[in-house]
Amino acid sequence: MEIKTIGVIGAGQMGAGIAQIAAVAGYNVILNDIKQEFIDRGMGGIEKSLGKFEEKGRIEPGTKDAALARIKTTLELADMKDADLVVEAVIENLELKNKIFSQLDEICPAHTILSSNTSSISITKLAAATKRPEKFIGMHFMNPVPLMKLVEVIRGILTDDETSKAIFEVSEKVGKVPVECNDYPGFISNRLLMPMLNEAMFCVMEGVGEPENIDQIMKLGMNHPMGPLALADLIGLDTCLHIMNVLQDGLGDSKYRPCPLLIKMVDAGLLGRKSGRGFYDYSG
Ligand code: NAD
Repeated sequence: MEIKTIGVIGAGQMGAGIAQIAAVAGYNVILNDIKQEFIDRGMGGIEKSLGKFEEKGRIEPGTKDAALARIKTTLELADMKDADLVVEAVIENLELKNKIFSQLDEICPAHTILSSNTSSISITKLAAATKRPEKFIGMHFMNPVPLMKLVEVIRGILTDDETSKAIFEVSEKVGKVPVECNDYPGFISNRLLMPMLNEAMFCVMEGVGEPENIDQIMKLGMNHPMGPLALADLIGLDTCLHIMNVLQDGLGDSKYRPCPLLIKMVDAGLLGRKSGRGFYDYSG
C-alpha cells in the first residue's frame, strides 16, 4: 500500500516540523489542531523555516510554495479519513493520546497506519486504544524536526513487519534515517540521554561544578555539541522530570530516580528556556 497522504495531529513544535518535511517530500498533508490560532502559529513557523531554507539554497526555488500548497489544515479530526498514515504529535498526555487514537481508529480506513511521536509513553499501551495494534508504531522525531536526521522507530509488541517497512520507507523519503528499537520505557534515545542530564543535575546539586563548567567539560572533552544542562534547559525541565519518572516507574530501578534539584526547580517554575530561567538565565 503506497502512502500518499499523511495526517499530522497537533501543529506545535514537533507537529509543524513533521508536516513541513512531509510536504517538502511531496506528500499531501492534513494538519489538525484544536484552535485556529494554533494552526496559524504552526503554519507561520513552517513558512518561516522554509523561507530560510530557500534563502540558504538548501531547497530548490519554488519548493516552499509547492510544499505550503500541499498542506491542508483542519480543526476536524474526521478529516483524517483521507490519511494513509497519521502521525500524532499532541502534548505528552496518555489519556489525551488514547482518546485521539480510539477516535482515529473509527475515522480512518482499515489500511491507515497510526503512529505517535511520543517521547516516553509506551507504544504498546497507545496501540491498545485501537483495534489495529499491528498497524501501530512509534515515530520519534527529534527537535528541530527539519534539521535532525534521526527517526527512532519504535515497534510495539504487536506491530507487524509490513508496518515497520512502510514507516522506514516514509522516513527515508522525508530525508531521515530511521533506526528501529523495541518498546521499553524511554526507548533508546531517552533511556541513555535523560540519566546523563539527570546526573549533570546531581553534579550541580552536590557542588561538583557550576553549570558552565559541567557543560564545558562535556562539550570540549566528549565532543558533545551542547552541554547537558543547556540541553536540559532547551528540552524543558518539566519534560526531563516527566521522562525520569517514566524511566523510574517503568524500569523500577532506583538508578533512574529524578535529581531532587530537578524536582525543586520544576516546582518553582524554573523550566528552562520556555520559562526564561532554568540552569541558565534567558531573560536577556
Ligand atoms: P507542543 O506543545 O509544541 O505542541 C502540541 C500541540 O498539540 C499544540 O499545538 C496543541 O494545541 C495541540 N493539541 C493539544 N490537544 C490537541 C488535540 N486534542 N487535538 C489536536 N491537537 C491538540 O508540543 P511538542 O513539543 O510539539 O510535543 C508534541 C509531542 O512530541 C509530545 O508527545 C512530545 O513528547 C513529543 N516530542 C517532543 C520533542 C521536543 O523536543 N519538543 C521531541 C520529541 C518528541
